[in-house]
Amino acid sequence: QSQLPDATTDMVCGFCSTGCGLKVHLKEGEAIGLSPTTSYPVNLGMACPKGWEALRVLDAPDRATTPLYRADKNGRLEPVDWDAALRLFTGRFRQIQEKHGPHSVAFISTGQMPTEEMALLGAVAKFGMGLRHGDGNTRQCMATAVVAYKEAFGFDAPPYTYADFEESDAMVFVGSNPCIAHPIMWERVMRNRRSPEIIVVDPRGNETTMYATQHLAIQPKTDQTLFYGVARLLIEQGRIDEKFVELSTTGFEEFARFVNDYSLARTASETGLEPNQIERFACTIHEKERVSFWWTMGVNQSHQGVRTAQSIINLALMTGNIGKPGTGANSITGQCNAMGSRLFSNTTNLLGGHDFKNADHRAKIAGILSMDESVIPTENSWSYHEIMEGILKEKIKGLWIICTNTAHSWINQNLAREMLSRLDFLVVQDMYHNTETAQMADLVLPAAGWGEKEGTFINSERRIGRIKKVRRAPGKALADFHIFQLVAEYWGCGEQFRRWSSPEAVFEVLKECSRGMPCDFTGVQNYRWIEEQGGVQWPCPEGMTAPVQERRLFEDGCFYHADGRAKFLFEASRPLTELPNEAYPFILLTGRGSASQWHTQTRTAKSPVLRKLYPERPFIEINPADARALKIAHNAWVTVESRRGRMRAMALVTPAVRQGQVFIAMHYEGTNQLTDAVFDPYSKQPSYKACAVNVKGG
Ligand code: SF4
Repeated sequence: QSQLPDATTDMVCGFCSTGCGLKVHLKEGEAIGLSPTTSYPVNLGMACPKGWEALRVLDAPDRATTPLYRADKNGRLEPVDWDAALRLFTGRFRQIQEKHGPHSVAFISTGQMPTEEMALLGAVAKFGMGLRHGDGNTRQCMATAVVAYKEAFGFDAPPYTYADFEESDAMVFVGSNPCIAHPIMWERVMRNRRSPEIIVVDPRGNETTMYATQHLAIQPKTDQTLFYGVARLLIEQGRIDEKFVELSTTGFEEFARFVNDYSLARTASETGLEPNQIERFACTIHEKERVSFWWTMGVNQSHQGVRTAQSIINLALMTGNIGKPGTGANSITGQCNAMGSRLFSNTTNLLGGHDFKNADHRAKIAGILSMDESVIPTENSWSYHEIMEGILKEKIKGLWIICTNTAHSWINQNLAREMLSRLDFLVVQDMYHNTETAQMADLVLPAAGWGEKEGTFINSERRIGRIKKVRRAPGKALADFHIFQLVAEYWGCGEQFRRWSSPEAVFEVLKECSRGMPCDFTGVQNYRWIEEQGGVQWPCPEGMTAPVQERRLFEDGCFYHADGRAKFLFEASRPLTELPNEAYPFILLTGRGSASQWHTQTRTAKSPVLRKLYPERPFIEINPADARALKIAHNAWVTVESRRGRMRAMALVTPAVRQGQVFIAMHYEGTNQLTDAVFDPYSKQPSYKACAVNVKGG
């Protein structure tokens, strides 16, 4: 029988936030292969290895194919049918609520489900089941950017479009390694024909720094100090866009007084850079016509992430590098639908970027949903780490984890697993039955994955794209959307959600929730229209019949605060929370290790091709001088230990890391044995990037 496709259909990739278009090859309605979509405005015919392998990971033998229940805490997970699973789920959660109060049950979800599923989950959990606390794994990646933007611009609004990569004269990448973390965005950088300066601010040499015209290898977590020092230099030299600052911002004079403390000598001393490196950086920002600033997890995952992100935003504002081609203070999102989660998961924000604490917002959303306003919580949810700590405090007794692998990815893993083990009832809803978290569950609900269900994602440049069902989910696995509907029925609140009958019906509800907000997409006609347009960037208000393909925000110099101005925000820099000492003399840096791997490797490890592209054995980068001093040879096994745990890894002796620093990729299970549970005070995002460790041969 021929394996040639008889049709194709287009959808977006389900791994990273780039949101590449993929053409799926179909035979009798089932996907048999894929290739990048050549006409999609995001990726222009390119895809990274993860995208090419997106179908393969659906075929893994360890897919969850039936609900599993552990009747005895020390027993095994055994198959049960859906009816039994849902009775157990709702029965146990109700029992816990009756005994410990309605808020003793919580949920943790993801940035990797379609927007419609996130919204249904958030609505069923909060408006139907009466839960107050629910958060997502976006807390681990994007919470800092959300708070930074909200405070500075008045709304969580990444201002850029991918064309800006091609239109900049200087690109500043901060704590960001797009060459492997966002490889197709990096290809857009490579298409830039303006001979741009590429400036990378990162303690470590990496794939992106190889292309840098300036690599500012700062001491870990001193980026905020660097940007305050650069701001002072620019102010001293009169190199600011006075007109933009006057018409479009507030707080500049206080900021100018504040950065006066960040002299060149102090900035050089704290960052470990030479004064002339800092001066050259400032000079480049001034001399280049179009400067764009890009940041990712090196900024977001920090004990002072929000203020660091805002120190970048301040530079863009004071030099007028925003709202114009090739400019912007641009946070690159991580997961495929982190942007959908940020606005529509009903966790941090009420649906559509609204505020749970705002009575007008609650009334508006209750009206749209035809629900009694009293079902909408008047308080914000606890954040991820507050929910986890709530377990230790005996406030949280039941937890529903959806599409994320807490027992692997949460900071200070031993403590995280201890927390999960103390729950009365842990439900894990996932594509695979053997993630580290699923192995701890009392109940596993088998879920369909990308390619097995319908909906939309929103990518980093605010572009809404379609995903489709092109494969049947294995066994009894169901789309998360369907599972949430069933939970509502078994809970007894299904009637509240009759209108939420399909992903496209929910899309219509969410359009109404977005009306009048900066993310207004009421002009999006329907799913088919999204495809015809090549994805649609928000805002797309009603009446916008044919959106242009690449659009950026703030072109008119107006921001979302009531006065229309952006705010300068700042705070004194703080030192690392765990400094190296004699017992733990190295600073551990963590980050992405390869373009072929993703997060905890839950999906990517299922592809033989992706596995071949990445070492299965954990490796640790160590400077040659440190390796010599410790008598550690290249490729030798070493033990890495922090105050919280230890792991073994193979030494990769390289000058890419400075003396006194080591690097381990985040994808390995052992990495979070080492990390320290420290959080940004405003975004509550964990600081994965820097803690103290020791390294010993053997
Ligand atoms: Fe998918 Fe991201 Fe790779 Fe594009 S760059 S193919 S969106 S993983």
